[in-house]
Amino acid sequence: MTRLLLLALLLLVVAWAFWRLVDGVIETFGGTTRSRAQKRQRAAPVKLVRDPVCGTWVSPTNSRFLQVGEATHYFCSDDCRKKFQSR
Ligand SMILES: [Zn+2]
Repeated sequence: MTRLLLLALLLLVVAWAFWRLVDGVIETFGGTTRSRAQKRQRAAPVKLVRDPVCGTWVSPTNSRFLQVGEATHYFCSDDCRKKFQSR
């Protein structure tokens, strides 16, 4: 009876270890595990700034900018920057 209990426990541990392995493999190969999807959502915040001339949201990394004292203004194009400067 004790031997049967130990065997059952061993099977449980093996099954658990196997499941952990399968879970890890699924996540490694881009599976759609819920926790992974949540992680991806959290990792994609794109910071955008507003063009003060036309109101377009632009990414500071690939836009024209103008330093005015402490503040930095970002523009979608050179035209908008010129309009801002001519004000
Ligand atoms: Zn603009």
